[in-house]
Amino acid sequence: MGRRAILLGASALLSACALQPPPRNAAPYATHTPPGLEAGPSDAHRSPEPHPASSSSDPSVASAEDGAIGSPAAATQHPEVDATPAPTSGSNHIPAANAYAVPGVTVHAWLATRTGPATKTAFLTFDDGPSAITGAVLDALKALHVPATFFAIGRSLELNPAPAQRAMAEGHAVCLHSYSHDYAYLYPGRSGNAVNIAGDYDQALSVAKRVFGPTYAPGAYRYPGGHMSWTGLEDADLALAQRGVTWIDWNCMSGDADLHPPTTPDEAMARLTKSFAQDGSPRAAVMLSHDKAGAHVTLATLPRFVQFFRERGYGFGVIG
Ligand SMILES: [Zn+2]
Repeated sequence: MGRRAILLGASALLSACALQPPPRNAAPYATHTPPGLEAGPSDAHRSPEPHPASSSSDPSVASAEDGAIGSPAAATQHPEVDATPAPTSGSNHIPAANAYAVPGVTVHAWLATRTGPATKTAFLTFDDGPSAITGAVLDALKALHVPATFFAIGRSLELNPAPAQRAMAEGHAVCLHSYSHDYAYLYPGRSGNAVNIAGDYDQALSVAKRVFGPTYAPGAYRYPGGHMSWTGLEDADLALAQRGVTWIDWNCMSGDADLHPPTTPDEAMARLTKSFAQDGSPRAAVMLSHDKAGAHVTLATLPRFVQFFRERGYGFGVIG
């Protein structure tokens, strides 16, 4: 399914909405380089490809359990952290993250055209939270001095908002990943139902505005299962565009949503390396992974994912 479908879908959407100029910031966490963050050397390869579960179930459905929240942690210690969790008005991140946030429409265009910013940039993305593991993911990201983008499920956000609020306070971006994560409702017969998708999105946004404040406004959306997995999404894409949101898939991944996910960090690294190479070592690398309960291999492998990109000269950004 794949690439061709993605590109076709992408170009349709691109022609439907205005493309935003270049990357506002391409070198995310590189400018305000927190100690320890450095660009690595060399170059690399890319990879494309995707992906997960097209099946249907609803694997990742909200791991709404509880959540380990971490103490609203030491904003003090984190160089990029702002004391207030409130996002910049009309955005999905705090003001301090403006320096490394890239508009969703720009990242979408990079994926669709297989291009990227002048400074190679990696966007670590985590889907399906907040969950019991989100706090630990945030701890790891803080230790690594790397920002990420969380695609939260509205239903989980409603039940367990604290980890997402902490994520935002610590300089990460929070986008939405539907309210229900219900494949049968969003894609009956595997084809997008625009009315359901838009209504579900509105419900998720309403929850998010309660959690982050009324000015919260994400620029990107990730379809449950990925845009590439379904057909008939044109109307839904337009409905989202009318809401100022562009869909974002990915071009490399940790494999933690595969039918047979990696069981060790070595296996997870192999999935990332392979998918990245298959996409031709994209200058804008959008890595799919999850912070749903049970994604312990992803959590354990985070330092190596980060090292992988640093060694290849990538800075880290978030999707605005
Ligand atoms: Zn998902």
